[in-house]
Amino acid sequence: MNDTDYSEHMEEDPAHITAAEVFVDVCADIEKNASRNIEACIGKHINRCCDEVCRVSKAFANSSCKAGCSFCCTLYVDVFSGEANLIAANMKAMPNKDFEAVRQRIQQNSELENNGIDEYIKRKTKCAFLADTKKCMIYKCRPLACRLYNSLNVKKCMLGVGNPDAGIPRSMELIGIRNILSEATGLLYGHFGIDATMTSLHRGVLAALNRNEGR
Ligand code: SF4
Ligand code: SF4
Repeated sequence: MNDTDYSEHMEEDPAHITAAEVFVDVCADIEKNASRNIEACIGKHINRCCDEVCRVSKAFANSSCKAGCSFCCTLYVDVFSGEANLIAANMKAMPNKDFEAVRQRIQQNSELENNGIDEYIKRKTKCAFLADTKKCMIYKCRPLACRLYNSLNVKKCMLGVGNPDAGIPRSMELIGIRNILSEATGLLYGHFGIDATMTSLHRGVLAALNRNEGR
């Protein structure tokens, strides 16, 4: 992947970035390197763009989020199928024991996701990728929804575990940026003829794992 500089579009305010600008930058890079896996390439670009937004955004600096804080990892997460494919591909690097344990948790959680968002949250189900150390096992390729999730009040997050109506106070700027990057992702998938439907995290990754042969 080249080093497309998204920050040039952000000026001093990351909210200046637009879906059209991200779309144009990623298209230009993919067209220069047509032999690569386009879906993986889009996912990596969007993730990198997101990280750049987080780096420069004052909104993130003002949030209560810290490494190892994981009350939010009991929420219902939506992903593009391309994100799920990228996560499934990255799982191949896990040691066998971890891979099998995570796969089993994905299977269990995907069944719970079938009951809908509220029921899933009420069960206080930990994400299949949350390690006992409270760290995300797929941190580098975690979905956009996780990358830009944030809270202005960690106590609300704590009280919100199991409560779908908790109303976590969040930065409107980061919600806006998530919408822009989701829109850019949808545009890119559509442009390159890739399925742009969204699904729940565990069901999406399980489907991707089942499509792969073995590991
Ligand atoms: S969203 Fe809430 S639970 Fe998640 S890291 Fe931020 S403060 Fe912690
Ligand atoms: S993918 Fe990672 S960050 Fe997202 S909910 Fe799961 S453990 Fe948390």
